[in-house]
Amino acid sequence: MERCDGCGRIEKPLFKLENTGFIKYYEKKVKNTVLKYGMLEDARRLALAVSDGKGSPALARAFLEVFPKIKFTIIHLNLGIPNYSDECQEVVERFCSENSIQLLIYGLSNCNGYSIYDFVNTAFSKRICGACGVVKRYPMNKIALENGFDALATFHNLDDTVKILFNLYINGKIDELVRIKPLISSGNPKIVRKIKPLIEITDGEDLHYLISREIEFANSECPLAKGSRMVRGKKLIVKIEDGVPNFKYLLLKVHLKRFLPLLEECASQPSLRECEKCDMPSVDSICSFLNIFEDHTVG
Ligand code: SF4
Repeated sequence: MERCDGCGRIEKPLFKLENTGFIKYYEKKVKNTVLKYGMLEDARRLALAVSDGKGSPALARAFLEVFPKIKFTIIHLNLGIPNYSDECQEVVERFCSENSIQLLIYGLSNCNGYSIYDFVNTAFSKRICGACGVVKRYPMNKIALENGFDALATFHNLDDTVKILFNLYINGKIDELVRIKPLISSGNPKIVRKIKPLIEITDGEDLHYLISREIEFANSECPLAKGSRMVRGKKLIVKIEDGVPNFKYLLLKVHLKRFLPLLEECASQPSLRECEKCDMPSVDSICSFLNIFEDHTVG
């Protein structure tokens, strides 16, 4: 196998299937995942959340192929990362224009004047992807809500999910583990239902699909990823899978089928209130989005 020296992800597609066979395999897997977990049941208006990464165009294209009658909008959040975010935006603009998909573009800097890059010299410098995850979640939900969408598909795939699961299990974070599932429906009218159609698909499969279907994707890697905990975590998972074949899929399966039902019984359900500053749902008096900027004096 050839892997990226930086993050351990598969760099070259080395699947045995020919392109046509692989395309069918990938799209069938996306379709089966959506149907198996009832992701689109009761969903009237669907949006795909896009900000970076290779999963986004793969997810959008697979949706066009397997659910041709389902209309969706792409919401692109420009994270303001130099030499990266603008390229990601240009790629998604071309993709939407070529495929006649409605596109809504927002800049993170328009939300509060900051970008992910402002975390570089803060306490988050080594876990910047964690901060990025918190920062992306809030505006994506708010944009979807304000535009009347009731389902938001994200491109979190198997590698992303297993990396998070691994961390949460070794740290015993029960309350967070219960939120790791293919469909998250909060019941709160201000939180849009999140679905993860790529949850059973690996980084390598996403990349091979893009190449097989000749879909354009951003060539640059995020400059903040190098040396981050997220990248080191993914490299560790790759090493484990070398010794435990199919480890990623097994961990996801065991989590969903065996542990999740038990964890749901004992996890405390956080009671949500309105953030004192923005009125969005929050566990604390100030929501995690505004808190992360205030606590760590970015900029
Ligand atoms: Fe954000 Fe990390 Fe992805 Fe860069 S690699 S866009 S910092 S999550």
